[in-house]
Amino acid sequence: MKNIIVLGVTGSIGDSVLSVIKQNKNKLNLLGITFNSNTAKAEDIINEFKLKNVYTESNQSHEFLKHTFENNYELNILRDKSELEELLNKDDVDIIVSAISGFAGLESTLMAAKTGKTILLANKESIVVAGDVILPLAKEHSTEIIPIDSEHNAIFQCLNSDKNTEDVSKIIITASGGPFLNKKISQLSKVTKKEALNHPNWEMGAKITIDSASLVNKCLELIEAKYLFNLNEKFFDLVVHPQSIIHSIVTYTDGSSICQMSNPDMRVPIAHALSLYDKRLSLNFSEIDFSSLKLTFEDIPEDRSELVNIARDICNLGGSSGTVFNAANEIAVQSFLEEQITFDKIYEVIYRTFDAIPMSKNIDVNTIYETDNQTRIEAKKVVKSIS
Ligand code: NDP
Ligand code: MG
Repeated sequence: MKNIIVLGVTGSIGDSVLSVIKQNKNKLNLLGITFNSNTAKAEDIINEFKLKNVYTESNQSHEFLKHTFENNYELNILRDKSELEELLNKDDVDIIVSAISGFAGLESTLMAAKTGKTILLANKESIVVAGDVILPLAKEHSTEIIPIDSEHNAIFQCLNSDKNTEDVSKIIITASGGPFLNKKISQLSKVTKKEALNHPNWEMGAKITIDSASLVNKCLELIEAKYLFNLNEKFFDLVVHPQSIIHSIVTYTDGSSICQMSNPDMRVPIAHALSLYDKRLSLNFSEIDFSSLKLTFEDIPEDRSELVNIARDICNLGGSSGTVFNAANEIAVQSFLEEQITFDKIYEVIYRTFDAIPMSKNIDVNTIYETDNQTRIEAKKVVKSIS
């Protein structure tokens, strides 16, 4: 039995993880969860899984838990971060799923990196901002980081569930193109929130859905891949593949290209990662209909090349550059969702903020938080100037 803790259980990745656990109850056990504001969903999960451990940083949610579960003596309602850290380090914990959205996932991912357990990583933002810190920390503590972002999990599977890239000549990361595929940035000034949130292939949380529509998600994924597979950005090509069937392709030095395919369903990479070094789990998945399958590939649109070039620069620069990019984007996305800026201005907020903040090469956890804070202030100024 593998005991699992899910950080950010009330989100879309949380849903997929719980679905895989429910389908494999003889092998997987949910030992603890964290969440932020969705108390109704957390309550259902606690009851359904007869949970023993729950943590939330939110005072309101904590009060709700204390009140709702006052007679449930089996449930451990953790209050302090130190209690969460203690839980993550318990002997019976095998797997920690990092599935909080955005920069907010950094703190618990850092905690998880020190446990020596296996992290199933969905929270790409923590690697983008702190790859230089998290990867050495994980190495020092023998913590294994297994990607569940579909493209990175695909790469990992194509590498035979190994991160040995010695014989690799190229890795192709596919992008769906999102709802605005074939639209120029100049055509995006009037698109609505509803349109931007309507991803053609994947059902995901709001932030990553907007990132997919702007192609920032692919930039974050390029940086994530650079760190997770320890390869120069030159090894990675980004290609639009609107059907989202091939999740990535690894080409070896002898000319063989290996890809991983599935219908777009996050439970597939999650099931792979949860079964690692064991037999595959069983999953109720929808089969690819190969008889009617048409797979197409195209270049990333020309007018997004400035964005992709920034991501490539970040791969080479390291230091604080990922934090600046991520924070500028988080403010841009939030401002779009709050209808302060139009969709096309997301790019302007990122470019202008990225130019305005000086980069530093050497970073630690404190400087990451400082840079994040400073960048958010600058990005909000840019938003104000254009809204
Ligand atoms: P959601 O928005 O659906 O869920 C986010 C989760 O994080 C919720 O449990 C939420 O709690 C929690 N959370 C949000 N803010 C905070 C905070 N300040 N402190 C603590 N917890 C917080 O996101 P997704 O599941 O879509 O994405 C999660 C991560 O996985 C992201 O990094 C995303 O990029 C990555 N990812 C997602 C994919 C997907 O298919 N969804 C695919 C690949 C990667 P609550 O709801 O209770 O407020
Ligand atoms: Mg992805």
